[in-house]
Amino acid sequence: MDGASGSGGGVRPDRHPPQGYVRHSAESATIDILADTWTYLIIREAFFGARRFAEFQRKLNIPRATLSNRLERLQKSGILKRIGKAGQHKQYRLTDRGRDVYPITLGMMWFGDKWMCNGTPPLALFHNTCRSWFSARVVWRETGEAVQAHDIRIRIPKDYWIPRPKNARRHRRSTWDGSVQGRRPCSVERMLSIVGDRWTFLVLQELFHGNHRFDDFINGLSIAPSVLSGRLLNLQRAGFIEKNEELGGYNLTETGLDSYGPMILMKAWGEKWVVRGGRSNFDFVHPSGKVVTPVAVCSSCHGLLSAKDVSYVCNYVAPD
Ligand SMILES: [Zn+2]
Repeated sequence: MDGASGSGGGVRPDRHPPQGYVRHSAESATIDILADTWTYLIIREAFFGARRFAEFQRKLNIPRATLSNRLERLQKSGILKRIGKAGQHKQYRLTDRGRDVYPITLGMMWFGDKWMCNGTPPLALFHNTCRSWFSARVVWRETGEAVQAHDIRIRIPKDYWIPRPKNARRHRRSTWDGSVQGRRPCSVERMLSIVGDRWTFLVLQELFHGNHRFDDFINGLSIAPSVLSGRLLNLQRAGFIEKNEELGGYNLTETGLDSYGPMILMKAWGEKWVVRGGRSNFDFVHPSGKVVTPVAVCSSCHGLLSAKDVSYVCNYVAPD
């Protein structure tokens, strides 16, 4: 993406909102669902095969009331459905929308394994389709090339910017300690401990849209300066960004740039299931002129990945 690494030039139509407008973001709609650590951990346990309330509770060591609340939310957002007849134990199953979160988690796992894990990654993944151990890769479906933030152009539709809501939602959390919960070592959780905070996520998103400067973040996000300073510091400490005098702000590091793949998988999911009913929020245009879409594929056979085709081995003692 031009400018994402601080090296590109060119006009970025997606960079600055017109006065009184904000970004209509499929990614942030998605992070609203996934950002809550408990919510994500429940989805993860569902992928690991948990079905019943007591199972989620035991595997996550999660307070009962919190679990009830999150299961309710996950049903409302159409990610889990409850099945079971009266008198039977209720079970929770992932819907199609829920199962489609899987590629995003694989993208985050790849990132967490690469940048936030010392030594052996917590999970070894096996692709049943090609009978190989693999890790996920985020590539452009149309070309098979690994996604790169800096070689892609953005094309925005007419209604990309939406009027700034009158009563902009206040986000309760003004500080974020990135604490990790649950009972499994998990690369996805490690990544979410940084980007799972909505403000941090939005700042990172602005960097991918080519913004670097403190004032641009303030204008684009209507974020309080003290909150912004805290989030920039978090991203710096986590190694995602660094100060850049030349730009008068911050640029993404190699680590930060690598978070692009999982971030745009969220965009694709959000467009499909949450905000626009499958209509693109903006297009990625490859240097060849082709419109391209991100997908998670197997590093061995390059096939698309879905939960039903993947087995795993834990490189740790799994909670019973
Ligand atoms: Zn494969």
